[in-house]
Amino acid sequence: MAGWPPAFDPKMLYNHVGALIGSLQIPGAADAGGRRRFRKALMATTNKTNQDQQREVEKSDDEWRRQLTPEQYRVARKAGTEPPFANEYWNNHEKGTYRCSSCGAELFTSDTKFESGTGWPSFYAPVGPGAVEEHEDNSLFMHRTEVVCPRCGAHLGHVFADGPRPTGLRYCMNSASLKFEKED
Ligand SMILES: [Zn+2]
Repeated sequence: MAGWPPAFDPKMLYNHVGALIGSLQIPGAADAGGRRRFRKALMATTNKTNQDQQREVEKSDDEWRRQLTPEQYRVARKAGTEPPFANEYWNNHEKGTYRCSSCGAELFTSDTKFESGTGWPSFYAPVGPGAVEEHEDNSLFMHRTEVVCPRCGAHLGHVFADGPRPTGLRYCMNSASLKFEKED
């Protein structure tokens, strides 16, 4: 998609959070407290939609179970997490596209993949605006932002506000939710 990811623009993060930043009047966000408030604002505003909404691809639990491997089913359909450094793509450096392992939707490309040191495939941006969907996740006594496939609702991973430029975001994904397609 042309123009994505965008060139570095310090205002981009502010745009991502939107009008809320203005209402919080974060003073430069340079000090630690500012960054903390900024992250809180980011997490709060990504709670846009309910995960139980209608999807373009809708299948029964049995259908997903038959279609996917046990690990893909556990992670993508039951919001599981795979072990770090012991998954398919954390150390994949080939050029290509990462699709949803459930429905094939294009989610990420190798262009925005980076070394996060976490042991999970990490990206600083999805393949385009709206390519992934974000939801507030308060499970396991943590406040996180879940990332799902907008087409089939598959659980992909979480997004954190400690990523590199140009977005400052870290999309921490599960390999089991992705299917890599190597570029010819
Ligand atoms: Zn999908």
